[in-house]
Amino acid sequence: MAAVDDLYRDILLDHHKNPRRYGRIEHPDVTVEGANPLCGDEMVLTMNVSNGRIRELRLESHGCSISRASGSMMAEAIEGRTLAQAKELVSAFKGMMMGKASAEDLPPELEDLEALEGVRSFPVRVKCALLAWNTLLEGLDAAEGAGRDGHH
Ligand code: ZN
Repeated sequence: MAAVDDLYRDILLDHHKNPRRYGRIEHPDVTVEGANPLCGDEMVLTMNVSNGRIRELRLESHGCSISRASGSMMAEAIEGRTLAQAKELVSAFKGMMMGKASAEDLPPELEDLEALEGVRSFPVRVKCALLAWNTLLEGLDAAEGAGRDGHH
């Protein structure tokens, strides 16, 4: 399966070197910070949300290649989704990383994230892979809260 490993390594390296949706929105509706002190990964997620849909999403990340690649793939998969769809994708990805589902069970939107399945064998790196997704989850909660209060 060396060819598959190479393919996965190339996907991760590409996202690490050229992270998608990278940076910060100037006047975001939602700003959330995430950190993984075990590894030193840090990220800032900004989103613009209207009518329950994530119109714009940017992620600024500093840290290891796993956290950055996972964040880049998250940003690419999540921008444009509704809050409910985003939550489903977070559960699907976390399910795979926690070993509750296999990579083949991932929805097509998360196809590239199969590349992270091998990380499951390394609990410390699982935290790196999940950081962007846990940060997103906080952002989704914040966006829902803002909607309830009537700000948006
Ligand atoms: Zn890390």
